[in-house]
Amino acid sequence: MSRFMHPRYNVFAEYVPGEQPRDRKIIKLNTNESPYPPAPSVLSAVGRAELADLRLYSDTENRALNQAIAARYGVPVSQVFSANGSDDILYFSFMAFSASGKVYFPEISYGFYEVYADMQEVEGIRIPLNPDLTIDPSKYENLDGMIAIANPNAPTGLSLTKEQIEGILKTNPDNIVLIDEAYVEFGGESVLPLLPKYENLLIVRTFSKSLSLAGARLGYAFANEPVIRDLNKIKFSTNPYAINSLSEICGAAAMQEDAYYREMCAKIIATRERSIAALRALGFAVTDSKTNFLFAKHAFIPGETIYLKLKARGILVRHFSLEKIKDYNRITIGTDEEMDALTAALKEIIKEEENI
Ligand code: PMP
Repeated sequence: MSRFMHPRYNVFAEYVPGEQPRDRKIIKLNTNESPYPPAPSVLSAVGRAELADLRLYSDTENRALNQAIAARYGVPVSQVFSANGSDDILYFSFMAFSASGKVYFPEISYGFYEVYADMQEVEGIRIPLNPDLTIDPSKYENLDGMIAIANPNAPTGLSLTKEQIEGILKTNPDNIVLIDEAYVEFGGESVLPLLPKYENLLIVRTFSKSLSLAGARLGYAFANEPVIRDLNKIKFSTNPYAINSLSEICGAAAMQEDAYYREMCAKIIATRERSIAALRALGFAVTDSKTNFLFAKHAFIPGETIYLKLKARGILVRHFSLEKIKDYNRITIGTDEEMDALTAALKEIIKEEENI
């Protein structure tokens, strides 16, 4: 820190993203990107004309993108918000809806929730998980602050049902209940059908996982109009041109490629189920993931050892040093070939460790 930095930022740790090596030979299973490219129409959506238009600012209202999202999901465009990655929307929400001074989220969840609470100087209250790492929805009833839940949760991959979340919405009429559906397309249950009933519901989504556009930095949200207006107020008070015009074009094109992306998600789910079976056969406990990643711990090999030994073999996975999950690794679902390479490497590592 320089001596010019505001001291409030000294007191907490920033979020540490997964490694982004430039070496293409590495099998990258650490940041939950899609192993498949964007749809063909997305790949050809940006040409010289669109590049030439970069001389103009992007559309502050993101009309093309929001209309494409609204049409895809059958909601009024007034209930859609989009931004520069869902991280931006999460942060905007912590800015806008944490007036009570408290924000509640699961003890093990997306690491940014805690950082955003720190940034807002509000109390981030971690609600314990059940011993099997599932979320107990009854612990979220009648609280006195905004609630943020990733559903399915990360890095556990476990999900709540729509009915369980409805119980939380019903008992928190004065709090925003933010449901982060970053991974919902891989088998979770969306709460979008609840939107007409609950003015406190805010659903946050991303283009980074199921839509193969992590590098475009696009996120979107659904909420009732007053909440969308609040998010817009924050956006227009920080960076109104936050979405660049090339990403907006790609995002709008992706929203029209439902069939392609359904096929990619089905492939990822099939690979996930194969990989879960393969890892269980090797002695791993693997959660019942409804996402594009696995959360796995070996019967006797420490999580960090597995992470380091895979890395030495050119395979990157994500390890968190938090006490409760330090024996696990979060492993993004890659192609079948990549997952076969992972399984082969794990077999070698287990053999080595058995001989120690
Ligand atoms: N929510 C969750 C649960 C995530 O895992 C991620 C990805 N790291 C995000 C939000 C952020 O996604 P993005 O900013 O790429 O839209």
